[in-house]
Amino acid sequence: MITAQTRLAAVIGSPVEHSLSPIIHNAAFAALGVDGVYVALEVAPGHAAEAVSAMRMFDWFGLSVTMPHKHEVIDACDVLTDTAQTLEAVNCVFWSDGKIVGDNTDGHGFLRGLRADLGVDVEAKKCVVVGAGGAAKAVVLALADAGAERVAIINRSFERAEIAAGLAGDIGSVGEAADLVEADLVVNATSVGMASTELSAQMPFDVAALSAAAVVADLIYHPAETPLLAAARQRGLRHQNGLAMLVFQAVSQFERWTDLDAPADAMMAAAKAATGVQR
Ligand code: NAP
Repeated sequence: MITAQTRLAAVIGSPVEHSLSPIIHNAAFAALGVDGVYVALEVAPGHAAEAVSAMRMFDWFGLSVTMPHKHEVIDACDVLTDTAQTLEAVNCVFWSDGKIVGDNTDGHGFLRGLRADLGVDVEAKKCVVVGAGGAAKAVVLALADAGAERVAIINRSFERAEIAAGLAGDIGSVGEAADLVEADLVVNATSVGMASTELSAQMPFDVAALSAAAVVADLIYHPAETPLLAAARQRGLRHQNGLAMLVFQAVSQFERWTDLDAPADAMMAAAKAATGVQR
């Protein structure tokens, strides 16, 4: 029920009408009985700072930030976390000591999702990230911060792979097909395999190259099973889709906004129900 004390949280983006975030965060407010509501706000490019001003004026819990505002919102924040500064991308805005902080929870969310779903910890693991866009960079930085042994980046455009590899410092490199053979964890961070695109029937790399102990994570969650994940399942490899990352980056955001332990199970259940995946 909405009351006179109900506090708002919102995702800003364009387009934003298909976002799953309202379903995930409102499930969290409901599960904990917090008097909050989360809405999706269509914000045209060039207007992200006004959304942050609205948060300041109305004392909202915070904002999720999606395309195309992840860079633009930086200047509207009072401070940035190290992660957001390094990635030059903000996906979460929250209050801390009266200041508006810009953070990026994507990489941390990926790691939490991997641990929660598959019990996999990346410390001392040989990792390959396929792709070098915004999502890949967040994952590369998180893998390096979490103590991965090495992170090799394979990408269509070499220059972007080099930039992403730089985020992992000494343990980062531009990868090649041979890196797949030794990998403990391979992450698809390209849009290859995404539903309703010309890439939906394609695979970003050959699963046959992987060892039997390799874990495959696809950041795509639509469809729930990409051709890559179907091939991983058929080979008997441990695997997960992108729903875990989506939910756990939201878990991290909710915790920053409310200082509460987020109800991850309720958030995952809501996300799975919304995407038609049975628990
Ligand atoms: P992005 O910045 O546009 O990067 C796209 C990546 O895909 C680039 O590495 C690009 O390579 C590669 N790519 C595109 N078309 C390709 C093709 N035909 N062949 C080979 N590589 C191709 O996008 P993003 O925001 O990083 O998102 C990447 C993926 O992650 C998307 O599928 C998105 O849905 C998913 N994602 C999931 C979550 C989650 O919470 N689960 C969050 C964010 C993103 P080039 O560099 O050569 O162009």
